[in-house]
Amino acid sequence: MHVIDTPAMPPATRDAFLTLIGPERADRLQDAARRLRRRLDGGTLWHVNSTAAGGGVAEMLHVLVPFYRALGVPARWAVVDGDPAFFDTTKRLGNLAYGSVQDADRLRPGDLDGYTRHLAAEAERLRTVLGPADVLLLHDHQTAGLVPGLSSVTAGVHWRCHVGVDAPTPGSREAWAALAPLLEKADGVVFSVRRHIPEELAHHRAAVIPPVLWPFAPKNEPLPADRLPGLLERCGLGPGDAPGYVLADGPRDPAAPLVVQVSRWDRLKDMHAVLTGFAAVPDAHLALIGPDPASIPDDVEQAHWFEVCRAAWTALPPGVRRRTRLVCLPMHDLDDNARLVNAAQRAAGLVVQKSLAEGFGLTVTEAMWKARPVVGSAVGGIADQIDHGRTGLLLDDPHDLAAFARLVTDVTGGAIDGAALGRRARARVHGAYLPDSDLLAVTGLLLT
Ligand code: UDP
Repeated sequence: MHVIDTPAMPPATRDAFLTLIGPERADRLQDAARRLRRRLDGGTLWHVNSTAAGGGVAEMLHVLVPFYRALGVPARWAVVDGDPAFFDTTKRLGNLAYGSVQDADRLRPGDLDGYTRHLAAEAERLRTVLGPADVLLLHDHQTAGLVPGLSSVTAGVHWRCHVGVDAPTPGSREAWAALAPLLEKADGVVFSVRRHIPEELAHHRAAVIPPVLWPFAPKNEPLPADRLPGLLERCGLGPGDAPGYVLADGPRDPAAPLVVQVSRWDRLKDMHAVLTGFAAVPDAHLALIGPDPASIPDDVEQAHWFEVCRAAWTALPPGVRRRTRLVCLPMHDLDDNARLVNAAQRAAGLVVQKSLAEGFGLTVTEAMWKARPVVGSAVGGIADQIDHGRTGLLLDDPHDLAAFARLVTDVTGGAIDGAALGRRARARVHGAYLPDSDLLAVTGLLLT
């Protein structure tokens, strides 16, 4: 276990955020922060997860911890350490909680014992820095095993889960059978999506708190017009020759509408089917954008699914292939990667997210924040974010490629006013998915 030292949020950044949400919301936020501070009564709100970098939870905690502190709420962040065996078990638990039914993901004899023993020892280490008035927010399956060791030493332990499935599978049931007994003594559980609260936890006090995005992060900050062309060139979306990490048949036609999906190369993101479905969309161009698989050598699945995409791209009729490209963004500088994603999302006339399953779907939130129209599968948190026809378009059956092509064409062909969808999408994110929503929800959680 180690404690993460997050740099303080500059007062000017906090004030820019307060201006962005306007005076009424800023008052509500500051009032909630005062009530939360009183409730903590000298204690600290601790977030605990299993990594300081990589993944949506770490990205969010880098923002939320300084944000709470900038509003006067004592907040800190600790990370549990682990050896390869521990992380192997947590990877299985995560895949199962996402519904995997593959034998390779099942728990093996001894896995759970090793996991609980390891986290019991980590709980002992955490106790050395915790005070009796502290309240814990433990994130995801990597921390569930801390609950038994910590529930009696602090003023509260809540477990917050960022993964889930819309309908249970044998895999998700296996995960919950393992995790539920460990969570018995939690004061409550929190999910990002209501449909993801499993039956096994139905007797708990449960709350729904979606993730939030930070408008001033490199991924979301406004990009000055003079920086955009250079960034787009590096995404393989400029008028010149594309960089070597882009698979393309010639430059993009800047006059044609651009459709973008940004995702990890993963089965559930269904990137290869986006390519196939796109063949029925006239005129528009498509860019599938993901991380360079070579930069994540421990994730062989991404390399596999990128190869599946490459094969699907190669098999496209030449006329369609010329309108599509695969982009593997460099990952050695994460802020730079985030700015490239930012530029690509802003350049898109339409963002798609044709996932087969989804936790929350932050790429959708990011695109909506940039006032882009989005076509997303009606799965996981995408269905919560998009109100069909108002703040985006939902694809009811993510396997229906003809319906996908129709929705895309409605926007790229102009039958649907994409700009109006985009404006309402941004307003939706402004209203529901910025960090003040998190602080208000956490205050509600601890004060009721
Ligand atoms: N992302 C990125 N670079 C990439 C691909 C994805 O920064 O090349 C980011 C994306 O912008 C989003 C996150 O990874 O912030 C993915 O989150 P999401 O909830 O959409 O899906 P997950 O990958 O967690 O299933």
